[in-house]
Amino acid sequence: MSSAAEIIVKARQEGRAVLTEMESKQLLKSLGINTTEMKLATSEEEAVALSLEIGYPCVLKVSSPDITHKSDAGGVKVGLKSEHEVAEAYKAIMASCTEKFPGANIEGVTVQNMARPGLEVIVGMATDPQFGPVLMFGLGGVWVEVLEDVSFKIVPLTRLDAANAIREIRAARLLDGFRGSDPVDKSALEDILLRVSQFVEETPEVAEMDLNPIFAYPDGAIAVDARVILGE
Ligand code: ADP
Ligand code: MG
Repeated sequence: MSSAAEIIVKARQEGRAVLTEMESKQLLKSLGINTTEMKLATSEEEAVALSLEIGYPCVLKVSSPDITHKSDAGGVKVGLKSEHEVAEAYKAIMASCTEKFPGANIEGVTVQNMARPGLEVIVGMATDPQFGPVLMFGLGGVWVEVLEDVSFKIVPLTRLDAANAIREIRAARLLDGFRGSDPVDKSALEDILLRVSQFVEETPEVAEMDLNPIFAYPDGAIAVDARVILGE
């Protein structure tokens, strides 16, 4: 397994500031953050072979440094249940992405295990000109996009800061269980915030991070999409 430093050096050598989803997740994994298992396929046959290794249901996603919003490009297919569905998904992703992003450098598709459904939350990190690195926490989906229901904490975070970041969002009640659903594992979310905080504190060249979404469960949490952006 590569260390975070090795992953960053490789991207720099290739002249890239944006890490791919695969690199970003490898980096998270090296920090002890749970992510989906994933492998890169560069052909339809390879995608099918990898799906047999990873098992069903699985997920296929376009891997391209030029495509950051993969769903918008038709580059994400979830819930694939057979070799046939994987082969069809591979063709559909390639057709859609090459049509929507002509000239994009497409490395292939990643084949991932499909995470069981959870409450979608996001953790982000941005660099504020005044405060330096700042972490953001929010619920995923419309909560963040429409309601802008997020909280911010300045790095480095203490355990109490992490707990407060989670508590302070307006929709925090949803995390405590809602209409019969079980409460989510807040300490797992605090751990993610603390690990990201420690990493960015030690790694000033990271300018931005997005773990979007993280699926939160009654027992643990898993990052299903991630993006890391390097600065100067
Ligand atoms: P985008 O680049 O569009 O943000 P994502 O990787 O976030 O693409 O995928 C879009 C959505 O698909 C996610 O918000 C999540 O709901 C679902 N998804 C993606 N990967 C997985 C996975 N491995 N397991 C389960 N659901 C997934
Ligand atoms: Mg995403």
